[in-house]
Amino acid sequence: MKYVLGAQCVKCGREYDAVPDLTTCSCGGILDIVYDYAAIRRDVSPRDLEDCRDYSMWRYRPFLPVEADSAPTPLRVGWSPLYPAPRLARALGLKALYLKDDGQNPTASLKDRASALAVVKAREAGADTIACSSTGNAASSLAGNAAAAGLSTYIFVPSRAPKGKVAQLRIFGSTVISVDGSYEDTFALSKAAIDRWGWYNRNAAVNPYLSEGKKTVTLEILEQLGWRTPDYIALSVGDGCTIAGAWKGLKDLYAAGFIERLPRLISVQAQGCCPLNRAIQTGTPWTPMAENTLADSIAVGVPRNPDKALNAIRESDGIAVNVSDDEILAAMRLLGRTQGVFGEPAGVTGTAGVKKALELGLISPDSTVVSIVTGNGLKDVQNGIRAAGEPMLVRPELDALLDAFASHGIAP
Ligand SMILES: *Cc1c(COP(=O)(O)O)cnc(C)c1O
Ligand SMILES: [Zn+2]
Repeated sequence: MKYVLGAQCVKCGREYDAVPDLTTCSCGGILDIVYDYAAIRRDVSPRDLEDCRDYSMWRYRPFLPVEADSAPTPLRVGWSPLYPAPRLARALGLKALYLKDDGQNPTASLKDRASALAVVKAREAGADTIACSSTGNAASSLAGNAAAAGLSTYIFVPSRAPKGKVAQLRIFGSTVISVDGSYEDTFALSKAAIDRWGWYNRNAAVNPYLSEGKKTVTLEILEQLGWRTPDYIALSVGDGCTIAGAWKGLKDLYAAGFIERLPRLISVQAQGCCPLNRAIQTGTPWTPMAENTLADSIAVGVPRNPDKALNAIRESDGIAVNVSDDEILAAMRLLGRTQGVFGEPAGVTGTAGVKKALELGLISPDSTVVSIVTGNGLKDVQNGIRAAGEPMLVRPELDALLDAFASHGIAP
């Protein structure tokens, strides 16, 4: 790890060696991986990436805390498309909008970036078993990436996790523990089991390497934009690890001289579960909330990474926007109909937040915005149908079709 200096607690500043099985600080704070940016600046430039044929997150190795001789993970993680979204931009009344479709990762969510890193670090630690607790996507991504690398997994999910995600876990051969309780209960049980059996810990708010994997999403966005910084990057927030990772990636690029200015973050949470945004909006410390939203991936009443997430939003001079479940369902339809991108509820929550921020006058219509679609809609078909409704049902006769068209107001 040529450019890694070590790890430092975000709470008390205590420093640690970057060993593969690093967890939290003795004070309880989460660690941050520290790099030698002067050395990166000296050795690495955007030109090197132009010649790089590795179209995956591993193209950013100088910015990643993995050993030079560590093999990458077998599944292709990262290098998801960044689509210009002119029809959606027009519908929203926005100058320029891009969609980063991270639902195109191998297990269909942004979490693959963190799980791939966890698999590499687990191998470096000599572990053969990895465990995590998850609202669903961290679990399915760990299960898939670990299966591909020949590692076994113990996965704790709340029993409300959507069936599509649980099916992935079973197909990938995990031992799945479906916990009859909240996400908080699920996390606590996984912690107790990890302490008991000593598995490699892929809980994103404990293992500091995971947000280093997640940061590759913003490294990619900026490379795909030709290193031109957008005004805003919008994404949905649950535990806070993703937004913290996204910000870390941007700061890395800035410190290494790849970009000349930083964008502002738009942190989007569900109205019914927005402890982090509420802290930003009221300027008070965060407090727990009920997990009252259909966007299961961000139904996190007790966020596990509040310090890093709040720092990221504040440092970026960010904006906190809350959206209702109806606004999330509307964003699912809007993304599908204008751009052909199908996101799960939490996957489109960032876009719902961009719409809301425009309506509230929090961002100018002249802005250039990147909205990250964090997960694919096929993971949660129940809410897809809820957003868009059932199709018309007709007998296999043209007369029946004519009647159905007439009653639905369709005139081909
Ligand atoms: C996990 C997840 C998020 C939020 O990430 P956090 O690190 O929990 O803030 C958003 N969208 C999807 C689809 C996710 O799976
Ligand atoms: Zn500490």
